[in-house]
Amino acid sequence: MDTIHLDVALAVAWLRAAAASVTAETDQLTRLDAAIGDGDHGVNLARGFTAVAATLDGAGPTAVGDVFVRAGATLISKVGGASGPLYGTAFRAIGKALPPGAASADLADLAAALHAGLDAVRKLGGAEPGDRTIVDAFRPALDAFEEAVAGGAALPEAAASAARAAGEGARATVPLTARKGRASYLGERSAGHQDPGATSTWLIFQALADVTAP
Ligand code: ADP
Ligand code: MG
Repeated sequence: MDTIHLDVALAVAWLRAAAASVTAETDQLTRLDAAIGDGDHGVNLARGFTAVAATLDGAGPTAVGDVFVRAGATLISKVGGASGPLYGTAFRAIGKALPPGAASADLADLAAALHAGLDAVRKLGGAEPGDRTIVDAFRPALDAFEEAVAGGAALPEAAASAARAAGEGARATVPLTARKGRASYLGERSAGHQDPGATSTWLIFQALADVTAP
């Protein structure tokens, strides 16, 4: 597998690893969401990513962007709650930002696509950094990825750096009060736990780091 470029096989491997990870962490994500929301985040995402993995069985897309467009469409159709449309829109935007029809994408393409993914989340959900959402892990991850790429890093290093930053961003949500989504109804009582969506975003970036690790 070529880890310099993101090709179809690596994109599929990333999404399968993300599915395995959110499935393994279902109880933890559910516990975090039960503390501040309705406790469905883990089950939502496990169901959604398992469906994504299933749609990539057999003859999958031949263009790397189409892998993500398909994943996004699947998440939108299979996952309820706030996170389904948000992650679905993000992956669809990532796929649409990659070079049309291309079998693989280089690091600059991937950085631009991740940027488009974060923009799509922010446009759909309207969350600002510090609102205790997916954005609080996604934004630092993207910054770290872009910085690594600008510094000449290869994909494994850029992905590891993004995953580290996403983890730090997720941990930094613990004291925050939710200002978006269901948890915002709790006001200050939403603080004291790691945000479930920021946590799942970290798992997704960690999955990319895991499948690209040398
Ligand atoms: P729901 O809140 O509808 O039950 P989930 O439990 O699946 O949906 O997802 C909750 C997570 O979604 C939150 O922890 C938060 O990270 C994320 N989230 C909610 N609203 C937004 C938003 N407007 N922008 C970005 N992320 C959001
Ligand atoms: Mg929920």
